[in-house]
Amino acid sequence: MGTLPLTRFQRLTEHLQQDDQLMPTLFIGHGSPMNGIEDNDFSRSWAVLGQKIPQPKAVLCISAHWLTKGTSITAMPSPRTIHDFGGFPQALFDVQYPAPGQPELARETASTIHHTSVHLDHEWGLDHGTWTVVRHMYPDADIPVLQLSIDYHQSPEWHYQLGQELAALRRKGVLIIGSGNMVHNLGMVAWDKLNESEFGFDWALEMDTIFKDRITREDHQALVHYQDLHKAAKLAVPTPDHYYPLLYALGTRLKGEEPRFFNDRAVGGSLTMTSVQFG
Ligand code: ZN
Repeated sequence: MGTLPLTRFQRLTEHLQQDDQLMPTLFIGHGSPMNGIEDNDFSRSWAVLGQKIPQPKAVLCISAHWLTKGTSITAMPSPRTIHDFGGFPQALFDVQYPAPGQPELARETASTIHHTSVHLDHEWGLDHGTWTVVRHMYPDADIPVLQLSIDYHQSPEWHYQLGQELAALRRKGVLIIGSGNMVHNLGMVAWDKLNESEFGFDWALEMDTIFKDRITREDHQALVHYQDLHKAAKLAVPTPDHYYPLLYALGTRLKGEEPRFFNDRAVGGSLTMTSVQFG
């Protein structure tokens, strides 16, 4: 017996331990695309998060900015960086985030989901809901990043259930990120107060508090039926695109996992950056 079998054994053990590592799951309020290039409290918190949690084998992001009919998963080896916004400085358009994809994980995920049939996508890439956040977490762009689209024709309950099915990926070293904003009303943004570090309308702060309370109490059904939570829900979630990523994150939460809130403050009156980590 040489040393090789032992080395192999160690490697195998390390591999198994990695496979057994349960990744946390996240909902991140991404806010303005400018957070992608700014050094501010939000972007710094994302950088710290990337350092603090175990290194994932891949990131799967459910971004508010990929709304589709049917569900797709990015399956290309090199997803492009999508600059899906207008009216921002050239520096933001110049950003490239060349993280690789992982076609194998895309195929595996598509084949293990029973809730719906998942289409393997070769067109999309990484939109700003994903890269403005993930580039701060993993600046070397060396971790594969995939996106799962939001079927905009489905109900809140349906998205929550799909999230539940994704939870299994957490045991395979995949970091799941729902990227949106709990309170998101662009039509009511107080543009003159956007540069203040914290400003929220009463209704926005109230809804944010209600969301956090229901998350803490693990009352997911109340969050699925968010329109019935309070009369201000219509203002906080006028369209569900930025809210659905939260339902995915809640679906991937394992029973009993305590929420850890961060960045919980409002900007521009009608947006909240409130984010939460489970596990
Ligand atoms: Zn957005």
